[in-house]
Amino acid sequence: MKLNHICGQTYVIDGSTQVGVYLFHDDTCLLIDSGPADEAGQIRQIIEEQKVKVRAIINTHYHADHCGGNREFQLQHQSLVCASAPGAPMIEHPILQPIALYSACPPKILHNRYIMPPESKVHNTISPGPLIINGGEFRIEELEGHALGHIGIETPDGVFFAGDSLLPLQVLQEFPFLYLHDAGRQTETLEWLKNRKHQQLYLAHGGHPDDVEKVIQANQTILENMLQIILAFITEGRTREDITAYVIEKLRLPFNQSQYYLLMASVSACLSYLCLKKMARSFAVDHLIKFQRKSS
Ligand SMILES: [Zn+2]
Repeated sequence: MKLNHICGQTYVIDGSTQVGVYLFHDDTCLLIDSGPADEAGQIRQIIEEQKVKVRAIINTHYHADHCGGNREFQLQHQSLVCASAPGAPMIEHPILQPIALYSACPPKILHNRYIMPPESKVHNTISPGPLIINGGEFRIEELEGHALGHIGIETPDGVFFAGDSLLPLQVLQEFPFLYLHDAGRQTETLEWLKNRKHQQLYLAHGGHPDDVEKVIQANQTILENMLQIILAFITEGRTREDITAYVIEKLRLPFNQSQYYLLMASVSACLSYLCLKKMARSFAVDHLIKFQRKSS
């Protein structure tokens, strides 16, 4: 893992999550995401080798591999954490994340470091638009869909950190599935990314893609494919569990208990979207809630 220069004062640390670094002129820096908790010590060492302290962290979203290092920097550098208003409670109270997946007090299996980051305090909730930090003008963009309140951050050098709103081609080839909170908003986010020209776009998993348009297109195709697979299966009424099992089998997705809840949440996001678009409906029958395709 090392600090790589992108342009101007903008750098990236190439851990399992790419952490954006913006160096100010006063021996402080800003991080865009803080990586997973188990890489925080190494990231801090790389930062400290530059003889700088982390003044602030902006989290693109609340997943553990994006805000897991917040606590380390709050304790060691007294860093301020900024996050979107919907993302902030999830960072401050990480138990909300497995609760959201399970819809009640979660079983122990969901109390794991991939789902629950160490808790940290959010000092500033931020909204789309310009954000001045230590004299530098950053720009916050709404990139909803992957997670509630997901944002993208452009540094004063024009480098845009897109978080998990886009997955790189190599990930999609191995895992042809998008983790979603909201399929409709993700569709809008992908359209927005397509219409905006990003000279320097960075993905949290995969870094700078050679061909941004191709990556956006691949993400759109994967999402469309998920929706089509579900629609083809619900010609008769099916439960969410049946649909999730079918999608896992059809796409040959890796599967364990923890993964199951993440996959089911994404399938649920697709079902809400299909109902919203009047392509499917849900109904109660035989003590079950079922989803069925609407005949067009
Ligand atoms: Zn994520």
